[in-house]
Amino acid sequence: MSRFWSKVVHGLTPYTPGEQPKLTNLIKLNTNESPYPPSPGVLEAIRAATTGDLRLYPDPDSTALRQAIADYFGIARDHVFAGNGSDEILAFAFQALLNHEGPLVYPDITYSFYPVYCQLNGIRAEHIALNDDFSLDLTAVPDHAGAVIFPNPNAPTGQSVSLEHIAQLCRRLPDRVIVVDEAYVDFGTETAVPLVKDHPNLLVVQTFSKSRALAGLRVGFAIGQPELLAGLERIKNSFNSYPVDRLASAGAIAAMEDRAGFEHDRQRIMASRAWVNEQLTVLGFNVVPSQANFVFARHPQRDAGELALALRDRAIIVRHFRLLRIDQHLRITIGTEAECKALIEALKEILA
Ligand code: PMP
Repeated sequence: MSRFWSKVVHGLTPYTPGEQPKLTNLIKLNTNESPYPPSPGVLEAIRAATTGDLRLYPDPDSTALRQAIADYFGIARDHVFAGNGSDEILAFAFQALLNHEGPLVYPDITYSFYPVYCQLNGIRAEHIALNDDFSLDLTAVPDHAGAVIFPNPNAPTGQSVSLEHIAQLCRRLPDRVIVVDEAYVDFGTETAVPLVKDHPNLLVVQTFSKSRALAGLRVGFAIGQPELLAGLERIKNSFNSYPVDRLASAGAIAAMEDRAGFEHDRQRIMASRAWVNEQLTVLGFNVVPSQANFVFARHPQRDAGELALALRDRAIIVRHFRLLRIDQHLRITIGTEAECKALIEALKEILA
């Protein structure tokens, strides 16, 4: 490779996505997808869309999808932006809204995409340290912040902050954009969507990839006042990004309307989380209380990297981050009831 290209390529520390193994007989607890399939109604809606006019481009404004999301939250459609997964929307937000002359502030342990987006966009970052129990204190955000982003609940730790603290931050920094990344909000955290009407500086980002079991379709959305969404729109149009495709829109609309299926699976996942939490504690793990569809845990006597490998030998994959402060933790996605049982049985064997 020429010196020029190696400098360009090596100057960036890229995001390392969770593994998507080719083997199908693994218990996959590493990337926080839903363990349950989309409901039959959702699959039917996607199938029905294949008999529609796939010859034609999708609606550039995702009108029907944005309307379904607006109806779900009881807000106006012009407060909703739709994109190809929440990662795409976060990328737009970094370019359009978070590139301020002050530093972008986010927790020191958080979604590992944020530092990559900062690097790509030449944004200076400043971290706020999570407390020892991994909780996030928003009063620690400095007044000189240029903008703020954090997941709620945080990833990979699973802890949430209250709406009251988010509202306080929005009031304290009224001319700074605050992005709340709610990828895991449906597993026990209150959404900040109702705060948007009083806080024009707040952008809430959600996804269909977790609680709505559609990671394979790549659909996410943002809720904010129209002035803020116009910034996302400008970036989307400048890069000629694709609107959400016809099949993905059909699936996402049906998923948004399927409130019973959503509620049923969400409750099952939260019940399994409580069970996994309890069982891991019995096995001697310290488990961080989680509001997400994963748990974050460490065993005081066993190396986390070795535990991850031992689980892998038993066809179970979990996530181990080789990062400061958390290299002795495992992040384990909540699977089906049977997968959770298999996980605990495997750990019993490994720890015996
Ligand atoms: N935010 C957080 C905190 C995440 O963990 C993820 C999933 N890796 C995303 C956003 C992106 O999700 P998606 O692009 O599938 O909507």
